[in-house]
Amino acid sequence: MSQTVENVVIVGTGCAGLTAAIYTARANLSPLVLEGVQPGGQLTTTSEVENFPGFPEGIDGFQLMDNLRKQATRFGTRFQHAVVEGIDVSGDIRILKTTEGEIRTRAVIIATGASPRLTGVPGEKDYYGGKGVTTCATCDGAFYRKMDVAVIGGGDSACEEALFLTRFASKVYLVHRRDSLRASRIMAERATSHEKIEMVWNAVPVAIHGTPEAGVHALEVSSTTDGSARTLPVKGVFIAIGHLPNTKPFASVLETDENGYLVPATGSQVKTRIPGVYVAGDCADHVYRQAITAAGMGCQAAIEAERWLAEHAD
Ligand code: NAP
Repeated sequence: MSQTVENVVIVGTGCAGLTAAIYTARANLSPLVLEGVQPGGQLTTTSEVENFPGFPEGIDGFQLMDNLRKQATRFGTRFQHAVVEGIDVSGDIRILKTTEGEIRTRAVIIATGASPRLTGVPGEKDYYGGKGVTTCATCDGAFYRKMDVAVIGGGDSACEEALFLTRFASKVYLVHRRDSLRASRIMAERATSHEKIEMVWNAVPVAIHGTPEAGVHALEVSSTTDGSARTLPVKGVFIAIGHLPNTKPFASVLETDENGYLVPATGSQVKTRIPGVYVAGDCADHVYRQAITAAGMGCQAAIEAERWLAEHAD
């Protein structure tokens, strides 16, 4: 087992993790970033990012993450592939238990993100990320101007996505597996009364159809009441059936809410109840979930870690 003790280990390479890396690296802390199963995070699966400030023409999601990684590397960030499986915070030195062995560190920034839940129907994977299937209307809605689209789900996210899409799309089908929405009353009323939104009640997706050249052209759904099939002629399918925060390795030690999101300590967005352990990005934020807000939290966590390390210098 290595006895090296890092200053700060950042778990995750999405916008939150890489921003934290840029800040801690520029503070001469020589951060170690652990890359998990999806280097670059959710943005690497999206095509064009048009709402990240500073890119008037938009930027490819993969390119943006590559830029952040280069920027972090330039100031001395080190990267290592390791999937974290647990954390021991009982001593002053935190121990991360990973697939590559134990990693010892004084401060930790957890930026493991969240993964959108997917339906698993045929076609979903084939057209995911720029070819007609997406999980983010804020990111991709503007690509569906004057087209028909479908949103799958019945919660606040699905209603919010459907309402946002009415700004661009000609028509939005909101496909829900029951006959009443889970969403809050105000969101449900807004969605069900919107002239561009057609509710498709008691229906579950069965398949997403398209071609490799032109992307999606239809969503096939099946009725949960009589099993009848219906084909919705849409160019875009927005899946909004919830997210799963990637927080399992930390859940026994840090506070999580009922959906598994890490809960920061009172009065802070990024501090936890354990000194020197910080959270940033979608693993601790189910409300905003944007690249720029994750980056903002990464910056906050880095500044907090830097201050804490300075105050607790040997
Ligand atoms: P959610 O509330 O868990 O809703 C998920 C929806 O997807 C439910 O309607 C569920 O159906 C449906 N669903 C789940 N698995 C499915 C499957 N395999 N096939 C088809 N449908 C499926 O998730 P969310 O909408 O992302 O919201 C998460 C949290 O964030 C909530 O607390 C929400 O209030 C909050 N939020 C708030 C706002 C806001 O206040 N502006 C915006 C977004 C989210 P059933 O209803 O039948 O279970």
